[in-house]
Amino acid sequence: MEDCIFCKIAKGEIPSSKVYEDEDILAFKDINPVTPVHILVIPKKHIESLNNVEPEDEKLLGKIILTIKNIAKEQEISEKGYRVVNNCGEDGGQEVKHLHFHILGGKKLGTKIV
Ligand code: AMP
Ligand code: ZN
Repeated sequence: MEDCIFCKIAKGEIPSSKVYEDEDILAFKDINPVTPVHILVIPKKHIESLNNVEPEDEKLLGKIILTIKNIAKEQEISEKGYRVVNNCGEDGGQEVKHLHFHILGGKKLGTKIV
């Protein structure tokens, strides 16, 4: 989608620190990390948010979850654990309107989500 920063990153029009890429998915380091490991995993296809996921996206979403698992292992945070966050919509604090999952790890996180 035009004017979507993550679509531009997915197309390579804006540089990113890539961690993983295949034909459907891109993972890159968050530009403003809040934990020692902070990676964003996005579908290359523009989907605005979790609210806009359709049944046809079922396989893609499953693939994203498996990709998250594999990245966590590569980043050596699997054993100690990590958090996966999706911010959806205004109350959810979503700033970039292209579906993305945060992988947060590398330190002990608080037990409270908010
Ligand atoms: P959210 O609040 O869930 O929409 O998160 C958006 C995230 O995207 C924030 O953590 C930003 O730091 C991150 N972000 C924004 N622009 C870029 C960029 N060009 N490269 C990497 N991460 C970015
Ligand atoms: Zn987009």
